[in-house]
Amino acid sequence: MLYLVPTPIGNLSDISDRIRQVLSEADFIAAEDTRVSRKLLNYLQIKRPLVSYHEHNQTVAGPKILQRLLAGETCALVTDAGTPAISDPGEALVALCAEAGVPVCAIPGPCALITALCVSGLPTSRFTFEGFLPAGSKECRDRLSSLTAESRTMIFYEAPHRLRATLSSLQKAFGGSRRIALCRELTKLHEEILRMTLEEACAYYDQNEPRGEYVLVVEGAPETAAETSTLEEALSLVRQQISEGKSKKDAVKAVSALTGFPKNALYDAVLKEI
Ligand code: SAM
Repeated sequence: MLYLVPTPIGNLSDISDRIRQVLSEADFIAAEDTRVSRKLLNYLQIKRPLVSYHEHNQTVAGPKILQRLLAGETCALVTDAGTPAISDPGEALVALCAEAGVPVCAIPGPCALITALCVSGLPTSRFTFEGFLPAGSKECRDRLSSLTAESRTMIFYEAPHRLRATLSSLQKAFGGSRRIALCRELTKLHEEILRMTLEEACAYYDQNEPRGEYVLVVEGAPETAAETSTLEEALSLVRQQISEGKSKKDAVKAVSALTGFPKNALYDAVLKEI
């Protein structure tokens, strides 16, 4: 059996009895960073053999762990913080086990995205988790344009050194009036939840240095935009208006008002494609 064992995202008291039990009974523990996990295990006074499993060794370490599981051993997988398999290499090990018919058991526990969503003040009944945005600027722009009509609440992970650039890209894609909750240092001493618009968030972080770990929870597009389900459909409305004699600028203005698509994002797409 492979156990996915969540670890605290800041507050050590978030360790449950079941987490302690699974860690202390596993034949071995696979850890993203063995130094980080050793500290946690020392704190819990648990002594089990540790192997390393991370982004850079997963193609070699994954099959080795699988062999031991197939031979009947029990492995507890932990990452540096939070729930394994969410925006970390745990995903690949679970896929290997699923393919080989090895049972996987996920223990519920700390997870940054759910903690942030719950406290965001934004609608929680329908949401989409987007993880980290792509690092390349074109890939990031493309990903965000595919989300302009997304009406569900959107959740992003972000590192502090990229926060300003990401907020500016979000504002360009979704417009400045869209609401955002910036959930920082969750469960830690300096936990902070900032609820504002994207325009206000950009202005705030022009004046303040981003520090710590962030989850960004962004309001979905208004329902009128959701009705126009793709950017392609909005573009085809723009094409229609241009063929009826409107300038690009006026057509974008009209379609933006009609669909709720942010004017700037639509205009960028029009310049690229029409
Ligand atoms: N698997 C983990 C989970 O879902 O809980 C997340 C792993 S991912 C590599 C790390 C990202 O999670 C950080 O860059 C940050 O966006 C978010 N994160 C982790 N701990 C956090 C915390 N205490 N407060 C805010 N965000 C956090």
